[in-house]
Amino acid sequence: MEMDLKHTNHLSMITAAPAAPVVMLNANAMPLMGRTPQLIKCSNCHNLMQTRLERRANKNTHILALLLCLTGLWCFMPLPYCLKSCRSLDHYCSCCNQYLGKAVN
Ligand SMILES: [Zn+2]
Repeated sequence: MEMDLKHTNHLSMITAAPAAPVVMLNANAMPLMGRTPQLIKCSNCHNLMQTRLERRANKNTHILALLLCLTGLWCFMPLPYCLKSCRSLDHYCSCCNQYLGKAVN
């Protein structure tokens, strides 16, 4: 009996060593991902693929642009929309374009 347990533990150690980490997505919980394309199984099309990154203006981008306008610096209003650090980085499925999560800053 003890021999069987050792044998199964050894097998699980071999099979639990993937070549690259694969993130499994749950439809309810959006994982926080890195700032580089991730290897992910899509929750929509179930394909294993690299995510496509896209920068988008978010709530903070609009607030900063509004503050620049209100303080008289209206000529700098486009600046938040041009700076990478003022926009969020989102991950999308490269097959079906499903939104998969947000990159951690
Ligand atoms: Zn997909």
